[in-house]
Amino acid sequence: MNGAMKVAAIEGERHAAVVDVPAPHAADEFAVVKVLAAPMCTEYKMYRNGSASQVIGHEAAGEVVEIARPGRVKVGDRVVVMPLYPCGTCRYCVGGEFIHCEHSVDPLAATGNSTGVATYAQYLIKQDWLLLPVPDDIAIDHAAMACCGLGPTFGALERMGVDAFDTVLITGLGPVGLGGVINARYRGSRVLAVESNPYRASLAGELGAEEVFDPGDPDTPARIRDRTGGVGVDACVDCTGVPAAQRLLIDSARRRGSVAFVGEGAALEISISTDMIRKGLTLEGSWHYNLADYPKILQIIRSFGEKLSRMITHEFPLAKVADAWELQLTGECGKVVLHPWS
Ligand SMILES: [Zn+2]
Ligand SMILES: [Zn+2]
Repeated sequence: MNGAMKVAAIEGERHAAVVDVPAPHAADEFAVVKVLAAPMCTEYKMYRNGSASQVIGHEAAGEVVEIARPGRVKVGDRVVVMPLYPCGTCRYCVGGEFIHCEHSVDPLAATGNSTGVATYAQYLIKQDWLLLPVPDDIAIDHAAMACCGLGPTFGALERMGVDAFDTVLITGLGPVGLGGVINARYRGSRVLAVESNPYRASLAGELGAEEVFDPGDPDTPARIRDRTGGVGVDACVDCTGVPAAQRLLIDSARRRGSVAFVGEGAALEISISTDMIRKGLTLEGSWHYNLADYPKILQIIRSFGEKLSRMITHEFPLAKVADAWELQLTGECGKVVLHPWS
């Protein structure tokens, strides 16, 4: 592309701006995507801490506007943008597990651009094989939920083999955990959750969670056990990254049950004897999902559009990014989507 584009910038503690930077151009397998929807994830923590940056965000959907050579996308394609800049040739990339690639490429060095790696931006660059097609009948904001909105918890439930026979327990109903409720409901599972924020607890109820427990209530572990007939939960997903929540899940899971960790945070102590050997737990980490599962995610998005519209509680133009972050700091929101062109 020629000319400039707008990107969000953090300039200090709770101080944000929108600045003009050069627009990126396509090169080799890197296409330019006009960002139409940038779901907001945990970047509000950078805003709160004042981590100065003009490279913000990792979730996006939009339209291909420039390619350098014929490849897997063409100009005009609507696409979901996968995160990171993996190599594309290692065993993980070839197997669809690109999120675990150990040989990330430097997209700026590879293309000669000075920008294009942020999603809170009007344009970005990405390898064409990481741009997944969005069918015409799916709204771009919904398609963008194939990033963190639905992705990490989908990966978690898929790995644990969760189905309609299972009770799923989710801790943390923020921009990732709410998607976990939707994913588990799609599979027909019964959903219990733990969340302190009343707004989010209520939203999870609307999305299909049967009951949401307060993490501050000392009776919560006993109540969860009681709701599973004293047996424990089949599959658990932590979306907080908080060790106390992770421990609650390990203790709430039934024998031979599974716990998946999606939220990142401090270290957690695990007893190999008590938690793993005697209890027989399976522990999983889930950052994203296998590329081959994208059609399944689209199926959820297509079937549960109404739930997704409910999960996306707020939308903001790029110019109001500070307002969006302030809202996220209150916790009184579900998934928030930024629109770089409105
Ligand atoms: Zn790789
Ligand atoms: Zn994210």
